[in-house]
Formats: sequence, structure tokens, C-alpha cells
Amino acid sequence: MNNVNRMMRSARAVEAWLFDLDGVLTDTASAHAASWKETFDALLADRAGAGMPIRPFDAITDYEQFVDGKPRLDGVRSFLFSRGIHLPEGEPVDRPNLRTVNGVGAWKNRLVLRMLAHGGIVAFPGSVALVRALKTAGRKLAVVSASENCAAVLQAAGIVDLFDVNVDGGVRSRLGLAGKPAPDTYLYAAQQLGTEPCLAAVVEDAPAGVAAGRAGHFGLIVGVSRGATPSELLASGADLVVSDLAELLDKV
Ligand SMILES: [Mg+2]
Repeated sequence: MNNVNRMMRSARAVEAWLFDLDGVLTDTASAHAASWKETFDALLADRAGAGMPIRPFDAITDYEQFVDGKPRLDGVRSFLFSRGIHLPEGEPVDRPNLRTVNGVGAWKNRLVLRMLAHGGIVAFPGSVALVRALKTAGRKLAVVSASENCAAVLQAAGIVDLFDVNVDGGVRSRLGLAGKPAPDTYLYAAQQLGTEPCLAAVVEDAPAGVAAGRAGHFGLIVGVSRGATPSELLASGADLVVSDLAELLDKV
């Protein structure tokens, strides 16, 4: 029996399933990537000065490597560091026009909220089908997201009632938990569900989130290949990779 078969046989023994939100349950990754791009490109143009060439934010490679799956301010710091830019931290109340880490984060959040309000929020049908099947089978379910807009997104997608526990960006900062790729938010969700990590599955589309599951020694780590490639997700520690969660329907 190969590793994936063995893993899928054990999927039936998984008692709790912990899902990332953006890019796993809901199709919000493109809104996030576009918002980051608009924010960072304006900042880069601003700093470059008139006539200077700029290397714009790449909504695929830079998004995936520096911001996807991370808490918003970690994403700001991580991308700016990659370009050798240092901004003061500022304060959480900083307005979007301030050139601080918090101000840049607020700028991005304002754009993403605007996009979500206008574009609607769609849950991936295959993901909803899997979550419903797991719920019917009596599994414990959690959402673990860096997003501070998690509850609103779940509500708008019509799937808020399916989950027993919701560990979002607000919970993370209230409790002082480290964000992904640290395992803390996933471990906290497992604890809230009363499940040992080795009996829980983590479902993620971002390499940082897969790495969080691996660091937490979870029993099964499923990568969903939307932006990141299967080989990137496997290299970050995924046990198996699917392109749609409906592929797991007959295995859980
Ligand atoms: Mg994600």
C-alpha cells in the first residue's frame, strides 16, 4: 500500500477537521491578491520617485511567498523586507494613508473589504460538500484563518453554522497566538474541539498554512492546490494534495 492510500485509509479515523478559510472554503484569495497588489504597487511607486523604474508586486509569486495565509501585518513586514524597505510599525489605529506597517495593513484591508462588499463571496461547492458530509458523519469542525473578517465571510458565504469553532485573526490577537506558519492557531483550535492534533486534519491552500499543520504534528495535512502548485504544497509538508475537496468525499 502506498503512502497516500495508507493516509486515506486513516482519513476515516480523523475525528476533527480544521479548515483554512481563504482559498480553501471561500474563493476570496483573488480579492486578497488584487488588494495587496494595489496597495504595494502604490507604495513602491511612491518611494521610487518620478521616472524611477519599479518592480511591481507579483500577485502570484510575491503573494504566495510573502503574504498568503499570514496575519496581515506579518504579510506587510515580510514583503517590505524582501524589497529592503523598512517602515516604522505605527499603531493599530493608523489610517491607510500613513506610511507605517499598520497603515499599509489598514490600506490593504480597506481595499479587500470594498472588493468583498461589491463582488460577493462564493464558497467552493466541493468544499461545502465535504464539510457537510463530515458534519453528517459527526466529525468536529473548525475554521482557522488569519483573516479578521472570517465570521463575516462565513456568514456571507452561508456556511457559518457548519463549524463548531472559529479561530480567526481577532481570536489570535486577543490570545497573543503566533500566526501561521507557526502552529499555534491550529493547536488552539484542536484544543477547543477537545481533540489531539494527531487525530485531526488540517486543510490548507498556502505553503505557510501547510507548514503550520506540519509544525503542529497533525495527523493528516491536506493541501488544496489553487495558487500554490502540488509540489510546493508537498514540499511544505502536505501528506496529499487535491485540486478540489470533493475528491475526498468518498474517502472520509
Ligand atoms: Mg488560504
